[in-house]
Amino acid sequence: MKRLTILGATGSIGQSTLDIVALHPDRYQIYALTANASDREMERLCRRFTPAFAVMSDDDSAHKLQQAIADLPTEVLSGKAGLTTVAAAAEVDIVVAAIVGSVGLMPTLAAVRAGKRVLLANKESLVMAGALFMDEVRRHNAELLPVDSEHNAIFQCLPAGSVGSGIAGKGVRKIVLTGSGGPFRDLDLMAFDDVTPEQACAHPNWDMGPKISVDSATMMNKGLELIEACWLFDVDHHDVEILLHRQSIIHSMVSYNDGSVIAQLGNPDMRTPIANALAWPERIESGVEPLNLLQVSQLDFTLADDARYPCLALARQAWQQGGNSMAVLNAANEVAVACFLDRKIPFTEIPALINEVMERTTNEPAGDLAAILEADAGARRLASELVRARV
Ligand code: NAD
Ligand code: MG
Repeated sequence: MKRLTILGATGSIGQSTLDIVALHPDRYQIYALTANASDREMERLCRRFTPAFAVMSDDDSAHKLQQAIADLPTEVLSGKAGLTTVAAAAEVDIVVAAIVGSVGLMPTLAAVRAGKRVLLANKESLVMAGALFMDEVRRHNAELLPVDSEHNAIFQCLPAGSVGSGIAGKGVRKIVLTGSGGPFRDLDLMAFDDVTPEQACAHPNWDMGPKISVDSATMMNKGLELIEACWLFDVDHHDVEILLHRQSIIHSMVSYNDGSVIAQLGNPDMRTPIANALAWPERIESGVEPLNLLQVSQLDFTLADDARYPCLALARQAWQQGGNSMAVLNAANEVAVACFLDRKIPFTEIPALINEVMERTTNEPAGDLAAILEADAGARRLASELVRARV
């Protein structure tokens, strides 16, 4: 029996994880669930899974939850300290890092430092602090397993043990990262100024939280994933080719020197990579419909167009600059996406804002955690000021 902490249990990844856990009560038990402010949803989850701990972001929602589940044995904690406690607790075997954004960094690092099996969905933490994060994984012997569908696919296509160990000597020619192109892949470029948050969040293939949905529409998601792949598999950006594949059936591939290309296929459903990472090296039922290739019938591939997706180039630039640039990119993107969702800036301002924040920030080494958090905070401040100046 493995005991799980799910950081971000009320989100899209959290819910998919809980769906799999519910299929395997003999294998998995919930130790802790965490959420931002949705105390009603958390109450429902606590009644269903009776975790030992439930963590809410603020005292107010923690208090409400505490009152609502007074009849349960679940202990309610709050704030960052609560997150760290349940991520690192000795009783926990597996931590699912499914908080969205840079707030996920500290609890995910706490799980890494406690040497847990960490299922990483929270790509932002790896983007902003990749070098330090991977060092901590090695130092504490944590078992880092990618849940992001592309990285989980690459993980399945590479020889075992390739997380953090590079591709040298493995006969790998390149990694092929696929992406659907998002909801605006066929939209007239002139129409980009007028797209709404609702349109941006209506992904053609995947059902996801709002932030990553907007990232998919700008393709910053693929840019973050490029950086994520570089850190996870210890490769450079030249080793990773990005291909648009509109059906989202191939989730990524590895091309080998002997001419073999190994791809991982499946229906676009996050329960597959989550189940893979939960049970690895075993395989368990995930509840996902088997892939029907006759029904899919056709798989298309094209290159991503720079004019349509300027965020891709910004991410590549941040990786090439190194140091604190990736923390700056990520923070500026989080502010830009939040402002777009709040209807404060148009869709096309997202790349413009990130670009301006990057241009105005001096690239410095990301020496330690303090430097990374400072870069994150500085970029957030600057991005918010720039938005205020624009509206
Ligand atoms: P979501 O918005 O659906 O859920 C986010 C979760 O984080 C919720 O439980 C929320 O309560 C919690 N949260 C938000 N802000 C918080 C804060 N300040 N403090 C503590 N908790 C907070 O997001 P999601 O789509 O599930 O994505 C989660 C992560 O997984 C993201 O990093 C995303 O990039 C990554 N990811 C998601 C998918 C997907 O299909 N949804 C696929 C690949 C990777
Ligand atoms: Mg992905």
